[in-house]
Amino acid sequence: MKMQERSQRLQAVSYGIRGPVMQEAQKMMASGIDVLRLNIGNPAVYGFRAPKAVSDAMAACVMDTQGYSDSKGLLYAREAILRYCKKKNIPCESVDDIYTGNGVSELIITTMQALLNEGDEVLVPCPNYPLWTSAVSLSGGKPVHYICDESSEWLPDIEDMRKKITDRTKAILVINPNNPTGALYPKEILEKIADLAREHELVLLADEIYDRIVMDGREHVALASLAPDLLTISYNGLSKSHLVCGFRSGWLCVCGNKKGAEGFLDGIKLLTSTRLCSNVPAQAIIPAAMDETLDSTNELITPGGRLYEQREAVCRGLANIPGISFVKPKGALYIFPKVDVARFGIENDEKFAFELLKEKHILVTHGAGFNMPTPDHFRIAYLPRADILEKACADIGDFLSKRAK
Ligand code: PLP
Repeated sequence: MKMQERSQRLQAVSYGIRGPVMQEAQKMMASGIDVLRLNIGNPAVYGFRAPKAVSDAMAACVMDTQGYSDSKGLLYAREAILRYCKKKNIPCESVDDIYTGNGVSELIITTMQALLNEGDEVLVPCPNYPLWTSAVSLSGGKPVHYICDESSEWLPDIEDMRKKITDRTKAILVINPNNPTGALYPKEILEKIADLAREHELVLLADEIYDRIVMDGREHVALASLAPDLLTISYNGLSKSHLVCGFRSGWLCVCGNKKGAEGFLDGIKLLTSTRLCSNVPAQAIIPAAMDETLDSTNELITPGGRLYEQREAVCRGLANIPGISFVKPKGALYIFPKVDVARFGIENDEKFAFELLKEKHILVTHGAGFNMPTPDHFRIAYLPRADILEKACADIGDFLSKRAK
């Protein structure tokens, strides 16, 4: 048989969250070692379960969801999404502007394939959820990373963004609340991003999958709501807010001004048609999940709720480690601490994560997995219970103290 190499298109595609360190962890687990997985935002692993109304809806829909649906998705699912858009002032006109997907992941790839030609640029945050960087590259585009500034609570650096716009730039991506930093962007920053897009006629891409996971009484502002005169593709889904990552239920809404974008939007329609439809049972539960009387996410993110208390625990634990600093997350499921690499002699963050795994059986994701250019960060998904997180932080502290110079 001839050698079959990986396609060249995949050269710039990576997904460090499930990279070599995780593969080593899987081997360790297969050999019976108990590994604490702080590497991935998969709530079900830590005993989180879907709200009863959602799992009941899933159980009830099995008989009626066995056929393909419309490629855009079931009408009643899209109607529920449209109601949610109205609630958040997202200028999505009609159910025809909504597409369901097998998670937001599928729709990220679909939209990049529909939008980009060879060499087109997309402004992507740094650090960022790595699928975005990969999806831009896979589609022939060039991800251009703009700085999110740790010293300003990880907010996007607007001047850096401005400097990086060229005549090849097609879109600006905003992930808010952010993965991996947990930042939540205030309206003023979002307005400045919209101004830039307006000035340079760029598409806005708003990944708002964590929009319901916002703490301390803060409010999430949907980017599209600030820019009805621009084209925004707004992404959301049930994976995180309703704890059902495994169901693969996501959607995109085409918002605002569609003039001039007919070709791009036609491309989305074409690509979603070629894959027939997204998982139909996962669409059928959307009305139950988005029902306004269902307050399940809120219970998790307020004092006494699991996510809230776990965030507090991880912050307490990390604050006790000399040589670690962090910005307290305001939303999403993650914290992105900084390690004093000079103090601990760390040169390679993947090696750091690997050694932590081998020595303490704790799996984190190294910063480079989020395209961080310096080897001084790692991400913790604070999904295990508070006492487990506190013990994990103590173990990380012990691991580092032995390396202190
Ligand atoms: N966007 C962001 C920012 C994420 O963190 C994730 C998953 O972790 C996704 C999209 C993908 O979500 P889904 O499960 O809907 O594919």
